[in-house]
Amino acid sequence: MLWWCDTCHTPALARVCSSCGSRSREVTLTPPGDARPAFPADVSLVNRIYSEHFGEPLIPPGHLALLNKVPDPDRMEEIIVGGGVAGSIKYIPDESRWEAIPRPQASVFLSPRRKYVVVDNGAVPSIQGEGASVLAPGLVEIEPSVTRGDEVFVLDEQGNVVAVGRAKVDARDAERMERGPVVRTRRNFPSICTRGEATWDDAVRSCEGVLEEREAEAVSFIRDVAARNALPVNVSYSGGKDSLATLLLARKALGLVPILFADTGLEFPETCRNVEEVSRTFDAPIVRACGKEAFWKVFETNGPPAVDFRWCCRAAKLGPVEDAIREKWGECLSFIGQRKYESNRRMASKRVWRNPHLKRQLSAAPIHHWTALQVWLYLFRENAPYNPLYETGLDRIGCFMCPSSDIAVLRQIEVSHPALWQEWRARLEDWQREKGLPDSWTGEARWRIKGVPGEEDYNC
Ligand SMILES: [Zn+2]
Repeated sequence: MLWWCDTCHTPALARVCSSCGSRSREVTLTPPGDARPAFPADVSLVNRIYSEHFGEPLIPPGHLALLNKVPDPDRMEEIIVGGGVAGSIKYIPDESRWEAIPRPQASVFLSPRRKYVVVDNGAVPSIQGEGASVLAPGLVEIEPSVTRGDEVFVLDEQGNVVAVGRAKVDARDAERMERGPVVRTRRNFPSICTRGEATWDDAVRSCEGVLEEREAEAVSFIRDVAARNALPVNVSYSGGKDSLATLLLARKALGLVPILFADTGLEFPETCRNVEEVSRTFDAPIVRACGKEAFWKVFETNGPPAVDFRWCCRAAKLGPVEDAIREKWGECLSFIGQRKYESNRRMASKRVWRNPHLKRQLSAAPIHHWTALQVWLYLFRENAPYNPLYETGLDRIGCFMCPSSDIAVLRQIEVSHPALWQEWRARLEDWQREKGLPDSWTGEARWRIKGVPGEEDYNC
């Protein structure tokens, strides 16, 4: 799904770079591999995490980077710089902190000032070739701040990185050890990283061929679906990048189209402003479906929605959208920014479908086969007014308190939108008191999962 042009130093979407014509190189990512651009706030976060741990930032100035969310109990992102995975960051909810997990290729971009060990050159072949642990007899030096459990770089006597891994002991104990493992090294799939500066405009040029093809295919799909179904057309716009790309495509295919906005009353203020801006920019009238009242009504009896108890979508979205469609059109055809790479469920979804809970709406997904990177490059190419929240480190935009969000994201929102969060927290605390739930239910975000063991008495 991802290639890299080592001449232009940009991602590419095919085997040949559209900008310079040279062959690009395929980049291996951990599946599902739906990587997205790292915005300046993402780059700052990664660099802060690496600087705090290793004393050096990972992503050099002027270099394009991508983030790839990988399966994790909370949140983990692979960092792609210079066309290869240079490392990851992982959120540890219990400690409210991020951890830096480098790959050996990180050494293309940084030389660790902290958290490293130096090994005897004689030990290098077994460490590098066989993935052997760093053993006490082969240890030449251990940086004094290394603590058991730390991620560390393993260097040879010349200072070259030969491996990465996790310290098994504290530095002061390692110095006294005569035998036993000091660092357990980690094996990863091989990656190639190269240095070189570029801009996102350069990336758009490298990907131009694929973007044009994708656009032409989506436009013809939209025209075809609209021609075959004699229904009033709209674009379901959420304030997210995928629905914005869908709106751009529908405009190209059909001209003016209204936007259908499901306002749950739990939107970020930035999202509401973006909906207005997009409406003005594209001359698209807004048909609003308001779910706020319905949400709080259900909340009164059910408590907050949870990952495994998501009554919210039906109450605050589907119901109000159905009402809005009935009033405005009776029945309609909605183009929706759904993509198969978003989830396994969407992978199995059709490109044209009818939601069983929303029979008045025929839905169609023009960007069903697009990757997140294709969507982003398309928005960059079109200079589209995307939601500024993406530039603050959020990768998905929906209700601000969505229980399906990672704790890492919810903690970030708590800091970036304190008033919004405080209002939600007050509602949670009311429910907690009313039901006699422990403080951890609100404080440690346990409200997000209803089926917490030991809380069977929690019944609503
Ligand atoms: Zn190129």
